[in-house]
Amino acid sequence: MNVTKAAGAPVAGEAAARELELINALAKRALSADEVYVFEVKLCDNEVDRDFERFSDECLDELAPMFVGKSGILDHQWTAGGQLARIYRTEVVAVPERKNSAGDVYRYLKGWAYMLRSEATGDFIAAIEAGIVKETSVGCSVSERRCSICGESACAHVPGLSYDGKLCHTVLSGATDAYEWSFVAVPAQREAGVLKGAGLKSLRGYVQTAAGSAFRAEFERLEKLAAEGERLLERERAEVKRLGLLWDEQMAPAVAKAAEGMGAEELCELRLSLEKKLDGRFPPLCQLPGRDRNTRFDGEDYII
Ligand SMILES: [Zn+2]
Repeated sequence: MNVTKAAGAPVAGEAAARELELINALAKRALSADEVYVFEVKLCDNEVDRDFERFSDECLDELAPMFVGKSGILDHQWTAGGQLARIYRTEVVAVPERKNSAGDVYRYLKGWAYMLRSEATGDFIAAIEAGIVKETSVGCSVSERRCSICGESACAHVPGLSYDGKLCHTVLSGATDAYEWSFVAVPAQREAGVLKGAGLKSLRGYVQTAAGSAFRAEFERLEKLAAEGERLLERERAEVKRLGLLWDEQMAPAVAKAAEGMGAEELCELRLSLEKKLDGRFPPLCQLPGRDRNTRFDGEDYII
C-alpha cells in the first residue's frame, strides 16, 4: 500500500568534499562543489500525523536507504520539469528530549539533497534560502498497517479517537519502497496552518500531491459547490435582514444577529415566516385598473 506524508522544512547547507564524494557516486559526471547546491530535508517522522497514522521506528530505518538516489519533484509553482533535486544521503535522527504522541522518542528521517546550480534552479534555491519551501512530502509503500491500540490490522477501533486516554492511530510498518519525495512550497506565514493540517488549506495541498491527485477533480467540484452554496446563503441572509427591518425596525438588529448564526434551512424558515407576517401587513396592491369589480370602462376612462 502506498502512503504519502508531509514533513518539515529543508535546511540549506554546503557541499563539503566528503559530501561531494557521495554526490558524485550518484551523478552522471563528476561535479564540482560550486556546481551543486546542497540542502537538508526532513522526509518523514514517527509522529502521528493528520491522517492519524505514523511510521514505526523500524519503518523509518527501513525507509532510510530506500530514499538514497531518489529524485525530488518540485510542485508546479516552481518548475514544470520537476526532478531537480536528488537525495544522496539519509539518516534517522533521534531527538531524545522530545516525545511523540505515542510516548516514544521522536525520530525523523533526514535527507541530504543536491541540485545543480543553474538559471532554471535559481528561483527555487532562492526560495529555500528565504525559507519559503516549508514542506516535503514523501511517497512510499508499506506492507503493514496496524491499530495502535490492539495491534490488529482490522478491528473496530477508530483512528483519531481516544481509548483509555490513548489516541488510536494506524502504525505503518514494513517499508517496501520509497518512490518519491517532493517539495510543497507555502508562504512562510501559512506554515503553521499547513503543518497543523486543519481545514481546507491542507486538503487542497493534499490533492496537489501525487497520492491526492485521484481526488483532485472531485475536490474541485465540491469546492465550487461550496462556494456557490456560500453565496446563496449570503443572499438568503441579506434578504432575512431586509425583511427583519421591514417587519420591525427595533427588532431588526436581533433578527440580523440571529441570521448570522443560522444555516440554510433555518434561514429559509425565518424568511418565509417574515414574508408571511409582512404579507398580512402590506397586502399586495393591485395596480391594474379594471381588476376591481367596482371599476368599469366607459369607453373613454375608468369609472370607479
Ligand atoms: Zn484496534
